[in-house]
Amino acid sequence: MEYETIIGLEVHVQLNTKSKLFSNAPTEFGKLPNSQANYVDAALPGTLPVLNEDAVKKAITFGLAINAEINNDSYFERKNYFYPDLPKGYQISQFKKPIVGMGYLDINLDTPKKIEIVRAHLEEDAGKSLHSLYPNTTGIDLNRAGSPLLEIVTSPCINNADEAVAYLKALHELVKFIGICDGNMQEGSFRCDVNISLRPKGEQKLGVRTEIKNLNSFKFIKSAILYEQERHTELLESSQKITQETRLYNPDKNITLTMRSKEEEQDYRYFQDPDLLPIKINEALFIEIKNKLPPLPQEIRASLADEGIQEDAINLLLADKANYDFFIEISNHTKALTKDICNWMRALYNLTLNERKLSFQDSPINAATLAILLNRIMDKSLNNAQAKAVLAEMLNSHDSIDAIVKKLGFSESISENTLEEIITSLFEDNPKQVAELKGGKDKLLGFFVGQAMKKTKGKASPVEITRIIKTKLELK
Ligand code: MN
Repeated sequence: MEYETIIGLEVHVQLNTKSKLFSNAPTEFGKLPNSQANYVDAALPGTLPVLNEDAVKKAITFGLAINAEINNDSYFERKNYFYPDLPKGYQISQFKKPIVGMGYLDINLDTPKKIEIVRAHLEEDAGKSLHSLYPNTTGIDLNRAGSPLLEIVTSPCINNADEAVAYLKALHELVKFIGICDGNMQEGSFRCDVNISLRPKGEQKLGVRTEIKNLNSFKFIKSAILYEQERHTELLESSQKITQETRLYNPDKNITLTMRSKEEEQDYRYFQDPDLLPIKINEALFIEIKNKLPPLPQEIRASLADEGIQEDAINLLLADKANYDFFIEISNHTKALTKDICNWMRALYNLTLNERKLSFQDSPINAATLAILLNRIMDKSLNNAQAKAVLAEMLNSHDSIDAIVKKLGFSESISENTLEEIITSLFEDNPKQVAELKGGKDKLLGFFVGQAMKKTKGKASPVEITRIIKTKLELK
């Protein structure tokens, strides 16, 4: 029997607001336990939640970026369950009316596919139980409690691990690029739950599903799906029952294990939170957010690919909004080709940013300065090799381009007459090669250019040398 895999994904994106969803406690990661939590997060009696406007704006930004309808009458509900790291005894979430309704994200594997996003809702994160800090005692850290999350849910429209990963990568790129999430997966800012079931091909009814919780790497997500797909297949083939449950992926053993049987919706006893008003978005705010929405990564990707830019160069530009802004800033200051701008950004990245884990935002050389260097190449006052040397020296000495050009001796330009004399004498010294070059042995052009570069100590541009050689020997 052939089976079809059906996957739906839920991603919890932590919104990068300064304070929490309903309190003014900070949201910084990696601080001392309970140093980023206040009375509201600890649910002390008498405290009340106050909605963070920035989180709402970020949710709307996301909705617009996936072409979704924004619900102008959404509200918060209490999702009741008991857990030590949830001091209120309920999580404030959205259930019936999420702020973001139906939208989509495109993926492009062999064929393009629209991944349907059915909803995205705002909710608060829970705290964390620390089991290994004290013997026989569990500690509670509320630093994460109340952090703003946007939970993004797809329909069960994904059919394999590759599609799931392609969607997640596109989503990850998007939320970083539109500036609503830092995308740090190790720190849990982007974590994924996978709902998976199998059914005989052609069958309409969905099979029993299992949920794999809290995956925070693309590699683990792929492995977990492949494992679970295999496990379901074996159970189905041997006519065994699949239990609807929540499972955890163990990356060391590359298996999934039962965590708990899945709660049903009614277990949570959702009801509207009486402490919070419905979210009404006025037209002016809506328009303000819409106007601030940057061009989207998928559109940029398509247009750069049309210009013949390679995928890894595009990935570098889209890895961070700051990278793309840097690219645009250079483009505003030079007429150099997109391809060349990408190459020089890559050079800067390789020379310094990568090693120091900096984004282009923190680049020691700013976009306008790099554009000046590109312009020097365009007007032929520097060749590529010289410009590379200047760039390296700029990182060393922080001197101006002019000062470095002078220091490296690139500014003592060679007059055209001198260059012609040098080339004439090269021809006299190498008559055999001249004859062969004239006879069509084009490779020798490189030989003469190289010799001339040597004689001029790299001060003449190879383009200029080539032009003079060709004119003198009447080559095409
Ligand atoms: Mn959730």
